[in-house]
Amino acid sequence: MKTQAYAALSADSPLKPYEFDCRALRPDDVAIEILYSGVCHSDLHTVKNDWGWTIYPTVPGHEIVGRVTDIGSQVTKYKIGDPVAVGCMVDSCQTCTHCHSGEEQFCEEGFTQTYNSPDRITQEITKGGYAKHIVVKEAFVLNIPDKLDLAKAAPLLCAGITTYSPLRTWNVGPGSKIAVIGMGGLGHMAIKLAVAMGAHVTVISRSDAKKQDAMDLGADAFLVSDDSECMASAASQFELIIDTVPVKHDITPYMPLLTLDGTITLVGQVGPIAELNTVPMVMGRRRVAGSLIGGIAQTQEMLDFCARMNILPEVEMIKMQDINQAFERLEKSDVHYRFVIDMKASEF
Ligand code: NAP
Ligand code: ZN
Repeated sequence: MKTQAYAALSADSPLKPYEFDCRALRPDDVAIEILYSGVCHSDLHTVKNDWGWTIYPTVPGHEIVGRVTDIGSQVTKYKIGDPVAVGCMVDSCQTCTHCHSGEEQFCEEGFTQTYNSPDRITQEITKGGYAKHIVVKEAFVLNIPDKLDLAKAAPLLCAGITTYSPLRTWNVGPGSKIAVIGMGGLGHMAIKLAVAMGAHVTVISRSDAKKQDAMDLGADAFLVSDDSECMASAASQFELIIDTVPVKHDITPYMPLLTLDGTITLVGQVGPIAELNTVPMVMGRRRVAGSLIGGIAQTQEMLDFCARMNILPEVEMIKMQDINQAFERLEKSDVHYRFVIDMKASEF
């Protein structure tokens, strides 16, 4: 079946309308009409080939919310008309230790990304959520709880799980003191989720422009990263810092903010960071870690948690044809706090 989308044809051309064939339904597949698609900074990195692995044409989008339009003969969890979601993964080997333990994002063979990955059967390059339709293996389709507003839920599928997962890995809960660096799509979800888990949350941002918004989202404190006095006042406070900065940067100034055995987990920059001075690490038994999205079971757990706790992203709705201007604003961190494409309102 043909579907309409927007694709980047090269690293330096704007996204354009693009038509492609969705794959025919396999017995364990779910066909989805996409209603809403979130715009993640990873989409922009991919379009610009920042990571060097983009295959053009590329149809980005891995924060997908839609309705089931058809199911394969072996599908049991979903029926036509169900609201469903798809995140960053559409397949994995499903046999290795990590897949068995529900951490498909660390599949030993490499998971199949929602876009820009070869399909495990046909080798066709997967195409993501900036499209009207997608066909996905049932095991990688999430159920959207009734209470979640479909128009706002899409960013949970990447920004939500990518911040929920480290909060769970490092056992954040009542009484925890954590900080979040960068208040963008991921950062604002980290605030909401950590606050809902009962943590004391500090936002670290480049200016005080987002301070009021941070407080409105439930943050307890706000630090401006280039104000050294302000940073010094927060020394040895945080057991966990989630760093969402999307570019190469120096994490040394954040290290003294960690408690003994505290961890800074990098979820933003994928690639080199600036040379790290080990003094604050060695002197305080502090740790640097990384984290990648989250497994399918944990993504469902996060969606259910958000429904229970009434958590939804702060979104700005756009139309598909406005994506190039949205990317320009994303590049400048001028998003409050996630763009979501309304597919039905869009022109292709
Ligand atoms: P975003 O909406 O652009 O937010 C990033 C925030 O980082 C900005 O709002 C800004 O916050 C801060 N920032 C931006 N440029 C900066 C700079 N040059 N120096 C310091 N701070 C800067 O992006 P996002 O969608 O949240 O994604 C963030 C990063 O996470 C991207 O690199 C993305 O690829 C990556 N990501 C990783 C995973 C994973 O699984 N690990 C999953 C999804 C996304 P302030 O204005 O508050 O300073
Ligand atoms: Zn993403």
